[in-house]
Amino acid sequence: MAHRDNQFDFDFIVIGSGFGGSVSALRLAEKGYKVAVIEMGRRWTPDDLPRTSWSIRRWLWRPNLGLRGFFNMRFFKHVTIFHGCAVGGGSITYACTLLSPPEKVWEAGSWRGLADWKAEMPQHYQTASRMLGVTENKILGPADRLLQKAAVAAGSGETFYHTKVGIFEPAEGASGNQNFPDPYFGGEGPARTTCIGCGGCMMGCRYGAKNTLDITYLYLAEKHGAQIFPETRVVNVEPLNGTSDGSSGYAVSTVKSTAWIRRQPGRFTSRGVVFSASSLGTMELLFRLKEKGSLPAVSSQLGQHVRTNSESLIGARTPGCSEDVSQGIAIGSGIYIDEHTHIEAVRYPSGSDAMGFLTTILTNGHPGPRRIALWLKNVMSSLFRHPFKTIRVLQPLGWAREFVILLCMQALDAEIEMRWQRPWFWPFRKFLVSRGEKVPTYIPKANEFAEKLAQITGGFPMSMLPEILFDVPGTAHCIGGCVIADNPRHGVVDAQHRVFNYKNMYICDGSVVSANLGVNPSLTITALAERAMSFIPPAAETGWNDKPRKYAA
Ligand SMILES: Cc1cc2nc3c(=O)[nH]c(=O)nc-3n(C[C@H](O)[C@H](O)[C@H](O)COP(=O)(O)OP(=O)(O)OC[C@H]3O[C@@H](n4cnc5c(N)ncnc54)[C@H](O)[C@@H]3O)c2cc1C
Ligand code: SF4
Repeated sequence: MAHRDNQFDFDFIVIGSGFGGSVSALRLAEKGYKVAVIEMGRRWTPDDLPRTSWSIRRWLWRPNLGLRGFFNMRFFKHVTIFHGCAVGGGSITYACTLLSPPEKVWEAGSWRGLADWKAEMPQHYQTASRMLGVTENKILGPADRLLQKAAVAAGSGETFYHTKVGIFEPAEGASGNQNFPDPYFGGEGPARTTCIGCGGCMMGCRYGAKNTLDITYLYLAEKHGAQIFPETRVVNVEPLNGTSDGSSGYAVSTVKSTAWIRRQPGRFTSRGVVFSASSLGTMELLFRLKEKGSLPAVSSQLGQHVRTNSESLIGARTPGCSEDVSQGIAIGSGIYIDEHTHIEAVRYPSGSDAMGFLTTILTNGHPGPRRIALWLKNVMSSLFRHPFKTIRVLQPLGWAREFVILLCMQALDAEIEMRWQRPWFWPFRKFLVSRGEKVPTYIPKANEFAEKLAQITGGFPMSMLPEILFDVPGTAHCIGGCVIADNPRHGVVDAQHRVFNYKNMYICDGSVVSANLGVNPSLTITALAERAMSFIPPAAETGWNDKPRKYAA
């Protein structure tokens, strides 16, 4: 059957260019499909990335306020979610830690039993790791050495490990900032520069050493003919020709995401659609389209089983410390203080001190008014005992050079739900709102560890102000919301990521992850997308009739 139907602008439209979207774009383009990638964020080059987090306009994404960066924070009752927004999705701002989860994740959650995951996934993790250039980190900075010292003091020294990362690091003993022709794709990829360990990965790599998606998957996808539309937000997807299941293709409507007044509406048609707008982005778009009547048959399980990991940011700040702890890579090493509790040493580059406004003196105790009172008492007594030191530690200047950030993650299966509702304080339109049990912000063992670290450095143990004041944890690892399941009563897509009740429609991003991973999710999202794309036939062989499989009741 002929695959190309000229009445459509594209064979496939991919919405979002993060991990799931980039894999989809490359693999579909390689199979001979005409592919468009529609991305709300901007395209970045090493030269136009911000130097520090004080460059708020080029760091944060809030286009309505004139902020056109690549990092966004969304505030919910149960959690603050950090995510990326750019050509390359979260890869521009992420810390490049790429870990495989333990095998037990395939035995939990709604994907359990729907495929032979343990047999199928290793090959896809291997491909994902090769494409993202995963290597064991060789660049240890002062923060990593301090983490190790504190782990030894806490009796967990043997668990210290170097992270696996997607960074082009220099060979052992060689210096960074050296140029090389494409080291990863047999000459098909771009020339690259080796890492200098500046700690800047989360502000975007200004040296071209981080293996971001725009210079890996997307670079190759464009070489295979995929077209990327940056600064373009998808606002509608609806089946063409009055069909209810999309069997005649789809119309995708867009607006310019960075425009204030002239929104420059656009419309594209395609036979198939891949939603890859991230867990939060895909949920939000599908809720909107379901309500609007464009895609009414999307499962009502949309928004269920959203997982955020139990995360807490703590650390130690040492005013006037002799070493610059911002040196190294963003997350260079980690330890396990017990079976469930994992701590990574994290850093921002020197000068990126804006986050310093959010950190304060560590306060133990369960969240609530008593903890806030205790925190006030701690700050006052510290001000009384060491006024200069305390003011020095609470003001932001020098924060990145002096603050060892500890990212503490607990592999506890805490789920929340997202709904599409009018909040009580703004009844004029609907938003995503969170529901469910609160995810804990207080991890006593992690606080003890921060105190130990502060003893070693001679500094102050610190924690995040919003966690103390509002008892709301922050996470960069929001997954789920459109989980894989056996039928639409349990999830939104089948085990090949096909959206229930529609044809040639897929979801490939963090929203399909159906169990708590316990590790940073990007490698798994990439591997799952590789697997999903492996089921789509080459363009020359497609019958354009791909629909979810019916599982036995
Ligand atoms: C500061 C930070 C550090 C992190 N560090 C790590 C780490 O070290 N390791 C790790 O594994 N993970 C890390 N993460 C998490 C990681 O970035 C995400 O898990 C990952 O990017 C999710 O991939 P995705 O494919 O689901 O979507 P994303 O990568 O989030 O991409 C989705 C894209 O879709 C776009 N989009 C959304 N809605 C629309 C729309 N309507 N129209 C058009 N485009 C749209 C967005 O702009 C975005 O670019 C980090 C995240 C942050 C914020
Ligand atoms: S440490 Fe610096 S040079 Fe290395 S990948 Fe991160 S930002 Fe790039």
